[in-house]
Amino acid sequence: MKLETLATHLGREVEAASGAVSPSIVLATTFERGADGAYPPGSHMYSRVSNPTRAAWERALAGLEGGAVAFALASGQAAAAAVFQSLDPTDHVLIGDDRYHGTRAVASDLFARWGLQVEYVDTTDLNAVRARFRPGRTRLLWLESPSNPLTRVSDITALAEIAHQHQALCAVDNTWASPVLQRPLALGADLVVHSTTKYFGGHSDVLGGAVVCAREDAFSERVRLAQRLVGGVQAPFDCWLLLRSTPTLPLRVRAQAANAQRVAEFLAGHPRVAATHYPGLTSHPGHALAARQMALPGSMLSIQVQGGQAEALDIVARCRLFTRATSLGGVESLIEHRASVEGPHTTTPANLLRLSIGIEHADDLIDDLRQALAA
Ligand SMILES: *Cc1c(COP(=O)(O)O)cnc(C)c1O
Repeated sequence: MKLETLATHLGREVEAASGAVSPSIVLATTFERGADGAYPPGSHMYSRVSNPTRAAWERALAGLEGGAVAFALASGQAAAAAVFQSLDPTDHVLIGDDRYHGTRAVASDLFARWGLQVEYVDTTDLNAVRARFRPGRTRLLWLESPSNPLTRVSDITALAEIAHQHQALCAVDNTWASPVLQRPLALGADLVVHSTTKYFGGHSDVLGGAVVCAREDAFSERVRLAQRLVGGVQAPFDCWLLLRSTPTLPLRVRAQAANAQRVAEFLAGHPRVAATHYPGLTSHPGHALAARQMALPGSMLSIQVQGGQAEALDIVARCRLFTRATSLGGVESLIEHRASVEGPHTTTPANLLRLSIGIEHADDLIDDLRQALAA
């Protein structure tokens, strides 16, 4: 079946016991054993290990990404940590140099202390990536496409191939695209990581993360252990909220992308904007590649304004419809000065603003930016 149908029905089947058309939330932490002391097949034991609402959401997510199994965690960061916890302490990992700043923090500030060898590379440069593989040592290549915040586009198929030539896994943080726009497992990747806080949640009211594995194998078992033993699991209510918002994911994501294209075209032609980073613009270096591996170029964009940090902050301060806030993927449009969010390790230009485009009318969004840029 097609994605829209799967998004509407997976994990949301009519419940046999009650006939309920929408899913219930099972808040129980523990479940009754059979009279013989055993758990009946397919039943649950304890909600850290598995829970019916979480299981329904994980089944939906695995189906949408075309994976064999999905693990829901309490946040995108918990999902990233579960992947790094599934490696061995001295493994070498290559991570895209433009990506969510928190991924760098988890890898370099936390797991490097436990011996993980972490190196950053420009994943848009295939030769640079090839040169960084350490034979027999590199276990994982982690990339984000389009990347945060520069919207760089990396060739997932080629990078997965390079990883596989070196017996390494390829993980793609697919938060910005969502499976509506990009399906990394079908392009050859082994793992998809999500912050479901963003497009899946879609309403800026739920935190969540997930790891989707292409196969059930020794590595997916390690991720399962990281989820169940460490216990950073997603709560049943939050899984229910994600099941609640996923049927509209394809509608929201496409409406947001259509708005983003119009906003990006407006910004690209504005004299106070020095650069507009959006893969939907023909001037973007990743435009052709994005057209090949994505259904649409998404609804995240960034601009570099004429001037520096002061000019950038000034424009943000003048926005009325765009909310000044971090995060993305919600129905409402957000704008933020990215370097100040990323902290001391940031490599993001001081004049960069990141925009998450929502489902308002594009004319109103453009009017707001026009007046904010006018002064
Ligand atoms: C927000 C985000 C994360 C982290 O997710 P949380 O749910 O905030 O922990 C990871 N990757 C990307 C691309 C993100 O945008």
